[in-house]
Amino acid sequence: MATIHCDSNAGALIRLLDLGISPILLSSSLSALVSQRLLRVLCNRCKKPAKLTRGLIEEFENKHIDYSRMFKAVGCKYCGGTGYYARTAICDILVLTDEIRADIASNEGLLRHLRTEGRRKDRTNLRKEGLKKVALGVTSLEELKRVVG
Ligand SMILES: [Zn+2]
Repeated sequence: MATIHCDSNAGALIRLLDLGISPILLSSSLSALVSQRLLRVLCNRCKKPAKLTRGLIEEFENKHIDYSRMFKAVGCKYCGGTGYYARTAICDILVLTDEIRADIASNEGLLRHLRTEGRRKDRTNLRKEGLKKVALGVTSLEELKRVVG
């Protein structure tokens, strides 16, 4: 198990290949990648229901996301005026399948793919995970945007 500082699972693969690790060795020895981001948890003593724009409400309804328990940060004595008091993790997990192993070992277009679509897909996965925590009232939309974009 190792830790690499980078922006996504695709970014971790690029970093490992850039370090000169043989694609064949990497494809046979790598089991999985986990990208993690920490989101601040809303303070339960002062959070208030989020005021959503009509555009956001339409977006959530189209995606069947329950927006009835979304909150925003306020700030009080307990949380030092920040509106947040702890952190929670969101993760994007990529388990290497035989297909991905074959791509790493042989596909010359893999790096180009990872640099564009791979990174975009990873950010989308993290955003989806974060949105689940926003929908549960654990964190705010603003915090998710700050951390994941
Ligand atoms: Zn508070």
